[in-house]
Amino acid sequence: MSTTTPQKFEFQAEIKQLLDIVIHSLYTEKEIFVRELVSNASDALEKLRHTQLTEKEIFDETLELEINVTTDDKAKTITIQDFGIGMTREELVKNLGTIAHSGSKAFLKALGEGGAKNTNLIGQFGVGFYSAFMVAKSVKVYSRSWKKDEPGHVWSSDGSGSYEIEEVEGQRRGAKIVIELKDDCAEFAQEWKVEEIVKRYSAFVSFPINLNGKRINTVQALWLRNKNEIKEEEYTEFYKFQAHAFDEPRLRLHFSADAPLSINALLFVPKENTEKLGLSRLEPAVALYCRKVLIDAKPKDLLPEWLRFLKGVVDSEDLPLNISRETMQDKALIEKLNKVITKRFLKFLEDEAKNRAEGYDAFFKEFGHFIKEGAALDYTHKEQLTKLLRFESSLTEKGKTTSLADYVTRMGTEQKDVYYLVGPNRASIESGPYLEGFKARNLEVLFCYEAVDEYVMNNVREFDGKKLTAADHADVKLSDLPKPEGALSDDDVKTLTGWLKETLGERVADVKASDRLVDSPVLALNADKFMSPHMRRMMKAMNKEGADSPLRVNLEINPRHAVIKRLFDTRSSQPEKARLVAEQLLDNALISAGLLDDATTMVARLNKLLESV
Ligand code: ADP
Ligand code: MG
Repeated sequence: MSTTTPQKFEFQAEIKQLLDIVIHSLYTEKEIFVRELVSNASDALEKLRHTQLTEKEIFDETLELEINVTTDDKAKTITIQDFGIGMTREELVKNLGTIAHSGSKAFLKALGEGGAKNTNLIGQFGVGFYSAFMVAKSVKVYSRSWKKDEPGHVWSSDGSGSYEIEEVEGQRRGAKIVIELKDDCAEFAQEWKVEEIVKRYSAFVSFPINLNGKRINTVQALWLRNKNEIKEEEYTEFYKFQAHAFDEPRLRLHFSADAPLSINALLFVPKENTEKLGLSRLEPAVALYCRKVLIDAKPKDLLPEWLRFLKGVVDSEDLPLNISRETMQDKALIEKLNKVITKRFLKFLEDEAKNRAEGYDAFFKEFGHFIKEGAALDYTHKEQLTKLLRFESSLTEKGKTTSLADYVTRMGTEQKDVYYLVGPNRASIESGPYLEGFKARNLEVLFCYEAVDEYVMNNVREFDGKKLTAADHADVKLSDLPKPEGALSDDDVKTLTGWLKETLGERVADVKASDRLVDSPVLALNADKFMSPHMRRMMKAMNKEGADSPLRVNLEINPRHAVIKRLFDTRSSQPEKARLVAEQLLDNALISAGLLDDATTMVARLNKLLESV
């Protein structure tokens, strides 16, 4: 059927409802109409390319497959033209006059569920073609189908309930959408504004997009290309463009999956962890695309929190372009994506650790903080994350690390727990009194240098069925070592510990002979189960309440150490001096434990002791 006089049509009732809301709702994301129309143009070109494969006769065969956007700020118009598949008269009626596509349906459904009050909803759904009416006084769609004998038509409407279709002469293949902008939307006739919008949402559309004759999309959607054909420089360039980065990527994962979801993803770990430099907390930066068109540059739930250092792109064909970030259905979809991508990325790290250990260690040094955070907080992925942790230990060289799995292979048959010590650095842990008992028994101890480590170890709790235990915890029991020559006898020890307890009074909870001291005379163990020395230091640094509660420790003495033996004798011969030595030994132990709060009394005492030398 063809006619040369304009014919008037009523919109379908649902479309009327939709248009009414689109036109009368005030909301901020009006600019997405550009994205919607450009993606329709891109779809139409894609369809034409497919049609070319099977059909011999195509109208206007030689036209370039491109998208032309033109702005006219005097006339206040924006035009989006493609040389794609076009629409016949019937298709204009069906596609633009009835509610055929899923996005609009979902939108209306959400409105039905009480969303009408939320005017922002429109911004979260792209309402496809109809979004043009957010900014338009009138919309004209000039179109001609690829089918040879179909004439061209212009479809026009002001969005108020009806539209007209009229035949036009001289129409090229494809569609040309001319929008006469409302006065308060005139900014969309500004070239710079439109350029910014197209670059934001449509930078990777595979057909050339020309704005007023100038090509503005020059970056390829690298994630959809075959890995083997992509050069290293191309990846780097893409990373810099996409992540607005200046460094080079440290690690890269490019993968695709078909089941359970169709996913193409290109993920990067940056060289540097800016959070570590003390800059602000990272925001999600892996952008979500659907067939090269941006849906959300910073999707919140696409990845778990601890993966917030990742950059890159996830593209899924399964996403409706007009995805809402609010409906349950879409949430479930994002959750599914999250699951698949996280699992894949963890597997990637595991492979890196196995096959490129040095690179992985360097990664962990820079980004280990996030892995620890995940291990401590992400219950779903805890097991895999715990495997990815790395520590220096009493058996590694300085700067070299071990995994928990490797630690476990070195455990003797007697050893039940995995031991660790928290301290500011290797030297301080090694010179402290806590390690020696473990060393003497050939027990490996992991070294933790970061403030969060204690929290992490407490949350991770165990690995491979073995408890993670702080080596300076009062409950740790170590096996007996053969009694060294010349130690105080059990009776003497009893006398001495009794005397020490009496002398030190309130400052100690208990005094006993140590099973873990080898070279040092004394050590202090925390008597407070709920606050480790490290935690206390941290709370003090943060001025937290509770850090000042009177401190009571368990003092352990080394019965074969010369100082302890001397003290046993001095106790009766020079009781005054012995008392000073006892106090000083306790302070020494507290210093090693990082628990001495105020050194002034200690210095005075030490001077007194030195007088007697
Ligand atoms: P969707 O793109 O989700 O299908 P839209 O509302 O954006 O929904 O578009 C509705 C329909 O109109 C499309 O499915 C398509 O058939 C048709 N259409 C829109 N723009 C064009 C175009 N530039 N060329 C050809 N057909 C188009
Ligand atoms: Mg569309």
